Amino acid sequence: MVSRVIPVQPFDLIIFGATGDLARRKILPGLYRRMVAGQMPQDARIIGAARSALTTRAFRDMIREALETFIGKDKLDEEIAAKFLSVLDYVTVDATGEDGWDELTKKLAKTKSQTRAFYLSVGPSLFGPIAARLHETGIATKDSRIVVEKPLGHDLESARALNKQLSDSFDEAQIYRIDHYLGKETVQNLMAVRFANALFEPLWNARHVDHVQITVSESIGVGGRGGYYDKSGAMRDMVQNHLMQLLCLTAMEPPAQFDANRVRDEKLKVIHSLEDVAREDIVRGQYRAAKDEPSYVQDAENPDSLTESYVALKVNISNWRWSGTPFYLRTGKRLRARMSEIAVIFKEPPHSIFAKLPAHQTNALIIRLQPDEGITLRMTIKEPGPGGMRLADVPLDMTFADALGPSAESMPDAYERLIMDVIRGDQTLFMRGDEVEAAWEWADKMLNDWTEQGRKPAAYDSGSSGPEDALGLMHRDGRRWREIEA
Ligand code: NAP
Repeated sequence: MVSRVIPVQPFDLIIFGATGDLARRKILPGLYRRMVAGQMPQDARIIGAARSALTTRAFRDMIREALETFIGKDKLDEEIAAKFLSVLDYVTVDATGEDGWDELTKKLAKTKSQTRAFYLSVGPSLFGPIAARLHETGIATKDSRIVVEKPLGHDLESARALNKQLSDSFDEAQIYRIDHYLGKETVQNLMAVRFANALFEPLWNARHVDHVQITVSESIGVGGRGGYYDKSGAMRDMVQNHLMQLLCLTAMEPPAQFDANRVRDEKLKVIHSLEDVAREDIVRGQYRAAKDEPSYVQDAENPDSLTESYVALKVNISNWRWSGTPFYLRTGKRLRARMSEIAVIFKEPPHSIFAKLPAHQTNALIIRLQPDEGITLRMTIKEPGPGGMRLADVPLDMTFADALGPSAESMPDAYERLIMDVIRGDQTLFMRGDEVEAAWEWADKMLNDWTEQGRKPAAYDSGSSGPEDALGLMHRDGRRWREIEA
């Protein structure tokens, strides 16, 4: 299977915070890979902006080093790397001061007709001031795009304030809120599997689906980010955004068309249909110390911390399609493996004609985000060979690396894909402001209750699959979590 690369129109991409971690680790290496794939047009310009006083040459050196580190020195195509670096420019700009704005204006005046996108790879407190400045100075034209990424608020109130700051200077159609989970190949494939095949959609409802499990598990702890993480926790850092997006794409109705607002309308309806989560349906945890690794509270440098590094919950969706089919979500740090998946577990057949045989597993569709992106359908078949009827559970595996062959290696990573969507002006894989607010409204009820209760999350062993109580959450309903394994 050959993947087609469709070049985008010429653009100016201005990256605020171009000297920071996200820009060096993800954004700029991603753009280099798009150039390798032939998607970057001749006249593209990438302008880095930050307070550090760097010449363009010093900035190019910095990014050369980043490419060597994050792509690999031996994997770089020297000719393309040189061409890529020549596209880079740099302006010293202080987002909150006067320095650099005139220079940036002058640089952009040369290419007024090109698509213009501003990627704000800076702390969220700078989103509002930069948006306002881009508007006031006229640097942002009415077709310009602005890109922001989590954290998009800390609660409903702050999310509303941020949306207001952005919408004071940009129309909603110009605002691209990134959730990089939506840029993953499998996540988009979930939509293709559901809506481009006749096979699954008739089964995709409470009559046939027993329950859905969504897991985002990390094996590392919060490490050096402990102080920052302690103000956030698993609900704010993962559930309100990434797991919520996965839930929406799994549960939403088919949109009339695959376009940005229709898809986002359907996702929003799912969030509005979420029931409040009962206290007994939530388990929060903090990891214990391991042999050489500190505990969560040591990492957070806060012995009294009430912040969760793990959360599991059961949520019901009150609508015709899903009433009676719970969705179980869990995410945590320092767990057994790094693994993310959506598992749709189907019901037992209505009557078993093989009643005398040992119980077997029910059908399941597993959408794996990491590692090894792919989709597996778990089926029961007759065990091959003589000796009468015995049943065996087998996976029908569609690991993309196998199905796509060598072209899978050049599959763009989430950031690459999403940045190219920004340039193309396609908002389908980006969150709309009302979605973000609705997700906060739902999460806030739990967050406020936890603050009121003031209870410490349960301790769990590092390298385990989470607190004991999380197992109970499933067992109580006669179900069990899938194994966390890489
Ligand atoms: P970072 O490493 O601290 O980089 C921040 C960047 O902002 C630096 O380039 C800094 O450069 C620039 N900056 C700071 N103050 C500025 C000002 N007043 N005017 C202009 N530039 C300024 O942070 P990061 O990890 O790259 O994260 C950037 C944003 O992405 C944050 O909102 C973060 O939450 C989000 N994010 C990051 C990741 C990740 O993997 N890193 C993942 C998801 C989301 P100077 O000091 O030279 O000005």
